[in-house]
Amino acid sequence: VKYENKDIVKMLEHVALLLETQAVLRNIRVVRRFCTKELVIPCVEHQMKQVFMNILKNAIEASHDNGEIEISVEQVGDCAELRFVDHGCGIPSDQLRRIGEPFHTTKPNGTGLGLLVTHRIISEHKGTVLINSQVNFGTEVRILMPVPRVVEKQ
Ligand code: ADP
Ligand code: MG
Repeated sequence: VKYENKDIVKMLEHVALLLETQAVLRNIRVVRRFCTKELVIPCVEHQMKQVFMNILKNAIEASHDNGEIEISVEQVGDCAELRFVDHGCGIPSDQLRRIGEPFHTTKPNGTGLGLLVTHRIISEHKGTVLINSQVNFGTEVRILMPVPRVVEKQ
């Protein structure tokens, strides 16, 4: 696998645009809160896009019609912090513990592989995935990724 320096803001925007066509059909708004113009990290681009796709897809599927999803990126110290917030059905706490287990799905046509793959990819990138959820209130998926310090040329 090839790690390259890539702008995660650009990748996220690309995925948001791809999935927005699906959201628009149910009048779901995808609100961007990008606190930085670009944030470059070493990563495997198609894997990161896969992660954003999985999380955003879940958020859209969980959302009510006319709902709103927020995606944000900011740099906090040496970390890139990405947040995906929906105001959908939420995840019961007993299920939250099982998330990331293969084939655990509550959807008739789900695979239960999206979050498993997500966890795997992010941990390979030395990052962390954190999920907060409340039933009937919504879900927040947070990804923390290390941002290498820029080494100044002498
Ligand atoms: P799938 O989407 O194929 O079911 P995932 O691994 O993506 O598989 O998700 C596993 C389960 O986690 C889903 O079936 C759903 O019950 C729950 N889930 C994931 N994301 C959300 C979310 N944003 N809101 C509510 N439930 C979620
Ligand atoms: Mg999914």
